[in-house]
Amino acid sequence: MTDFQTILDEIHHEIRPLLAQGAVADYIPRLASVPHEKFGMAVVTLDGQLYQTGAATEAFSVQSISKIYTLTLALQAIGDRLWQRVGREPSGNAFNSLVQLELENGLPRNPFINAGALVVADVVLAASAQPRTQLLTEIRRRADNHGLRDDPEVAISEKAHGFRNAALANFIRSFGNLDHPVEEVLDFYFYQCSLAMSCVDLARGFLFLANGGRCPWTGDTVLSADQAKRVNALMLTCGTYDAAGDFAYHVGMPAKSGVGGGIVGVIPNRLAVAVWSPALNAKGNSLAGSAALELFTTKTGMSIF
Ligand code: GLU
Repeated sequence: MTDFQTILDEIHHEIRPLLAQGAVADYIPRLASVPHEKFGMAVVTLDGQLYQTGAATEAFSVQSISKIYTLTLALQAIGDRLWQRVGREPSGNAFNSLVQLELENGLPRNPFINAGALVVADVVLAASAQPRTQLLTEIRRRADNHGLRDDPEVAISEKAHGFRNAALANFIRSFGNLDHPVEEVLDFYFYQCSLAMSCVDLARGFLFLANGGRCPWTGDTVLSADQAKRVNALMLTCGTYDAAGDFAYHVGMPAKSGVGGGIVGVIPNRLAVAVWSPALNAKGNSLAGSAALELFTTKTGMSIF
């Protein structure tokens, strides 16, 4: 049997020299004050066993990781019709790039670049009378933590500096691919990005994707097995910014990262694993977090390949 606890402790020890490297995201000023050297990691297996190391219970800003949950709500609401408004290809560009949108008539390449996430947010706004409450309730249930909440200071900080996202939203709306006012879409998007979760929350909160779309503790069918398979495929190809190929090569599992320094991955039918270290590499993925996940798949011998 795999000794996950020993492996996590080894990884924590081995990545220590990396904690001085990389840079914390500072384009959202509130994120710039998070200590550089933090590290946490958690694994939850399908039978509910939890293993953790470091600051695994400390909540941090999930940022783009929230895009998995809004995509989930959008798929629950409109299913495959979503794909008429957003694509499923890696963009080959930065997550907040504007260039491709003009060439492709306001149809974002995938749901995880910011342009795609804004369209997904628009779908959630149309489908729900109380989108914030619905999103928070969904995340609390999946993570089995009813104390989870957003961090309004992060949302305010991002809103005050969110010129690029505002540009993206206006641009998409000019192509008719947003139905709600830009301000409303942005407010919901900044809200989702400001949700705060720990590695333990995230590992628990992604386990439904390792379990054919079913939440192991509530028994809820969150997504059909077919949809869960496809969300995992999107995470593999588009979940770790413009470095998804390199991430698949080094780590070998579907994963979603965020500029708060979190990365969550799943090994279908086995486990979910989350890591947090705020300093990012040049592509925007947690530097120590990426290395930790590579060590994890190497040491456990578990990957999807
Ligand atoms: N709120 C961030 C932004 O829109 C999310 C980026 C990310 O985590 O990838 O820039």
